[in-house]
Amino acid sequence: RSNGWAKVSPLNKSLTAGRGACLPESAVGWVRYPSGVSDLPTHNLIAWPDLPAAQQPLWPDPDNLADVTAELAQVPPLVFAGECDQLMGHLGQAARGEAFVLMGGDCAETFAANTADSIRARLKTVLQMAVVLQYGSRMPVVKIGRMAGQYFKPRSKPTETKDGQTLPSYFGDGVNDQAFAEAARRIDPHRLLSAYHASSAALNLVRAFTQGGYADLHQVHAWNQDFVRESEAGIRYERIAREIDNALAFMKACGADPEEFKRVDFYASHEALVLDYERPLVRIDSRTGNPYSVSGHFLWVGERTRDAGSAHLHFASLIHNPVGVKLGPTATPEDALALAETLNPDRIPGRLTFITRMGAGRVAEALPPIVEKVEADGHPVVWVCDPMHGNTRETSGGVKTRQFEDVTAEVHGFFEVHRSLGTHPGGLHIELTGDDVTECLGGIGGPQEQDLPYRYETACDPRLNRVQSLELAFEVAQRLEELR
Ligand code: PEP
Ligand code: MN
Repeated sequence: RSNGWAKVSPLNKSLTAGRGACLPESAVGWVRYPSGVSDLPTHNLIAWPDLPAAQQPLWPDPDNLADVTAELAQVPPLVFAGECDQLMGHLGQAARGEAFVLMGGDCAETFAANTADSIRARLKTVLQMAVVLQYGSRMPVVKIGRMAGQYFKPRSKPTETKDGQTLPSYFGDGVNDQAFAEAARRIDPHRLLSAYHASSAALNLVRAFTQGGYADLHQVHAWNQDFVRESEAGIRYERIAREIDNALAFMKACGADPEEFKRVDFYASHEALVLDYERPLVRIDSRTGNPYSVSGHFLWVGERTRDAGSAHLHFASLIHNPVGVKLGPTATPEDALALAETLNPDRIPGRLTFITRMGAGRVAEALPPIVEKVEADGHPVVWVCDPMHGNTRETSGGVKTRQFEDVTAEVHGFFEVHRSLGTHPGGLHIELTGDDVTECLGGIGGPQEQDLPYRYETACDPRLNRVQSLELAFEVAQRLEELR
């Protein structure tokens, strides 16, 4: 370092070597970020080369944006680099088949639903699912929320037209508002700050719940106290909860009441999409000198922004957090291998997760060649199944939904592929809510098509409700039991 300028130390050596799918040597240098802003602490001085970035908001006013990014560059981190390293260790276990990952939360978080009730309900859903999975698999379950940062959405079209009026699409609460009105859809950089503050508040509550007694294993019954209790999944859950209670009581009688049962590690993840949010929230870790994203523990690059040479991949390659990439049915084995080389050249177990979302009808044919190629090259990838995004459809009435049976079919297909290849099914990534919504169809006693309008509340994609989530957990637990 000299004169307040810091050199980038990329995780990915191919960045400076000019090798691989990333950026040319000339693009890396001594660059000040954000440009034109002085007196920044040196930990914010990172080079951001000009690379193609899809799905970025067209900010109306560059000055406003610069003020916002300058402020984001100064705010306290939401997560600590050491926590990201811990998560990387847990994910490394999952890559080896010694742990199972559960990632879940909203498709799009909203500021309006950033309430204690909503956060607690989502957390409770993930905790209940984790109990079922852990009980079935006898493996640690790594719990990650799609939470405290999932405020940015890629869209298939930049605008939306209704009754002759054309407005910008809804890009997530971090960019604009979902209501179809001119003022609501206005793209506003100040929303980046609101997203940061909302994430900060959510993470604070999640930390309080998970460290302060709410997630204590002695509370397993308490998480099942509301509408889920009477459902078939709730009744099955109650049986497991009773057995856990008995085991805890027995252990206590033996004089053991370990601290591990009183707290859980819960991590925050979101899609790294809007770079004017993510870039200022990178900090240099004072312990190691390495750059980390401090906007969440785990970030993933979406299906629409994972092209070779994209700014999103460069971003993911630079940060030392564990990262993921979504892989849809158009991904080739060569694409996957190139991604692994770019994002994890040092082959660190837990550094890279592939979140596959092929669709129930495609998983059996599309997934095996990808897994085979990557595994044959010896890359230690965590294979996670997203059974949501390849199974979205529209009803005849034009409502976006997903059929629970398609979701479970993709999950079973995913397990089948890994069984036949002898590789490890590492985890599950789902869109869920803690409430009794009617967005996805099916499951035991679940919503039918005519029920959709009753509680259709998502800001973007349809989410499993809590009963459906729990039911899915039992399906997955059964597959994990078979692997024991
Ligand atoms: C999402 O996870 O909400 C999403 C947009 O997924 P994908 O990138 O897989 O389409
Ligand atoms: Mn989604």
